[in-house]
Amino acid sequence: MQIVRTVQELREWTRADRYETNTIGIVPTMGALHAGHASLIRAAREECGCVVVSIFVNPTQFGPNEDFARYPRSFEADCELAKAAGASLIFAPSVEELYPDGAATFVEVEGLSNRLDGKSRPGHFRGVATVVAKLLIATEADLAFFGQKDAAQVAVLRRMVTDLRLPAKVVVCPIVREPDGLALSSRNAYLSEEERRRALVLSRAVRRVEALAASGERRASALIAAAHEVFAAKPAVRVDYVELVNWETLLPVETAAPGTLFAVAAFVGTTRLIDNTIVA
Ligand code: AMP
Repeated sequence: MQIVRTVQELREWTRADRYETNTIGIVPTMGALHAGHASLIRAAREECGCVVVSIFVNPTQFGPNEDFARYPRSFEADCELAKAAGASLIFAPSVEELYPDGAATFVEVEGLSNRLDGKSRPGHFRGVATVVAKLLIATEADLAFFGQKDAAQVAVLRRMVTDLRLPAKVVVCPIVREPDGLALSSRNAYLSEEERRRALVLSRAVRRVEALAASGERRASALIAAAHEVFAAKPAVRVDYVELVNWETLLPVETAAPGTLFAVAAFVGTTRLIDNTIVA
């Protein structure tokens, strides 16, 4: 497994590999890799001859009061995990490499970027779209793998890939959870033991909505109310949003249909966590 730091080196590798392996896949990450990331890398391995895993804590997707500086960083362990899961190449650029001095070009996916997480994190999806566009252009990837865990991000990136006519096909992989239901996240590392217990309320709310929808309840008002009821049992957890939306537009719907996105975000202490399900 190669480790490269510059776009030029990356292109040299992927261009050479393209002739040998046909399909280039990319798994964009911010490092602090866990089993959720590993599942994306394994999925990429199954479909691609060359799997690029990018590790880059992208400053432009963090707000001024967010956790950029203290975001967990564990490069050595990340390389081990990525290699074991089947990565061919790690792309770990510096901030200056992806944002050259004077960088002034950004990708704005209008409308979508202000919904769900974008509403509570202004500028977040602008940063995400910008960095992912840079990564897709640099790798000339055929397939790009993302987790359903960040479902609003998937909607933003699908729109971007379509609008920019990028050649990459977006592949979405299921949410990997702890045995007790908590969705794996690099930010789970911030939780104290007590907060870790409280954090289960997110997956409980998601499961409650899944069960209700499976039993035939399709009204958004009823599904959202049921989720709020679950959250009410843990008043120390501050709900950011509970929404039932069209997964393509991220606009609220009144009735759940197969493919509708039910998503929640909440603060457990100072840590903001998200979870979701796609209605069956
Ligand atoms: P991050 O490093 O948090 O930016 O995440 C990199 C990629 O891993 C994104 O596409 C995430 O959606 C995905 N991911 C993060 N957590 C999980 C999880 N628990 N299950 C599946 N994919 C995940």
